[in-house]
Amino acid sequence: TSAFQSIDLVPPDIQFDITRRFLADSNNDKINLGQGAYRDENGQPWVLPSVKMAKAELGEFGHEYLPILGLKSFRDEATRLLYKGTRAFTENRIASCQSISGTGALILAALSLKRLHSAPDSIYITSPTWVNHQMMFSTIGYQVKELPYYKDGAFDFDAFTAALGQAKPGSTVVLHTCAHNPTGCDPSKIQWKAIGSIMKERGLFPIFDSAYLGFNSGSFHDDAWPIRYFLDELNVELAVCLSMAKNMGLYGDRVGLVSFATLSQDTAQIAESVMQNVQRSTITTPPAYGARLASIVLSTPAIREQWQKDLLTMSGRIKSMRKRLYDELILLETPGDWSCIITQSGMFAFLGISKTQIHHLEKKHHVFMVETSRMSVAGLNENNVQRFAKALDETVR
Ligand code: PMP
Repeated sequence: TSAFQSIDLVPPDIQFDITRRFLADSNNDKINLGQGAYRDENGQPWVLPSVKMAKAELGEFGHEYLPILGLKSFRDEATRLLYKGTRAFTENRIASCQSISGTGALILAALSLKRLHSAPDSIYITSPTWVNHQMMFSTIGYQVKELPYYKDGAFDFDAFTAALGQAKPGSTVVLHTCAHNPTGCDPSKIQWKAIGSIMKERGLFPIFDSAYLGFNSGSFHDDAWPIRYFLDELNVELAVCLSMAKNMGLYGDRVGLVSFATLSQDTAQIAESVMQNVQRSTITTPPAYGARLASIVLSTPAIREQWQKDLLTMSGRIKSMRKRLYDELILLETPGDWSCIITQSGMFAFLGISKTQIHHLEKKHHVFMVETSRMSVAGLNENNVQRFAKALDETVR
């Protein structure tokens, strides 16, 4: 008998399956709003000019293993980028470890926290959230609990804070630093302050899932504000899981960083030693290529300046597509309130249309998006926005 006979087939990942269906569709006017990856004004993947400059600088570097904690120059640059100006940074209270993009960062942070923190093994995520949160944290043995996050096109502050106020003291809470996936709705600064107070009062440990820093507003510094607020105003310990997939367009190169800001240099050292040990026992060392590019981008003034422009190009194009789509729908007098398209921000808009309508969009109009009604705004451009607006109009009438 086979060792595998008691196992059922696992259905394909919903998000990756949309890309598969999109690629298999032979229609010339098909539109992919499924995958959360930036596309330029021609609907093509975009290699950032800053990354092209870094590639030209790179030269031959061989193929040796990186240290377990990753490329030192990348860790230093990314840590400075995140924390410069905070007391934790000045006082050298930050542990860091290079990770396999944001996904690997979350796994590494959550595994390390199990060893570092004597808290109950509960982790709170927002509902809805990025589909992988539930799977990842339950795979590594956490009890995953949900905090209501969204209502009627906006962040549901009252429901979220009420639930947070009931969370088990000492638990971990995963917060989206900006550009919440899938809703595109972030807390305001005032709301962040209230969230921070509740978390501090209940001794909840924040993991800032930071997959879109710089991609949201065009400024990395502005997008990272909640992290600095928690550190400097609340003086709490926290983890940041940083991905460079979106903000440098290094999706497939898997560049990320876990950092823990702790209350003392000693505890930061302990945290780093634990991460090193967890890294060794899971992946040994992280990949080198993307980290070298990111390190060059961040450490070379002229290239870094170009990167800041690139962030504005990406975030600006997405913002203008939100406006274009909204204006088209108003022009068509499409039934419903579509203002969420312009009030939400980041890669995604959460349209609030039904599964049946989403299936109809795919079957009749060759428009592909996730069943939750999350659309990747980056999939729109001048050549398809009108067609999409018309398709949506026809669908909801
Ligand atoms: N967190 C969130 C909220 C995300 O949306 C993503 C990307 N879809 C990630 C983490 C991780 O992405 P990656 O592993 O590609 O960096």
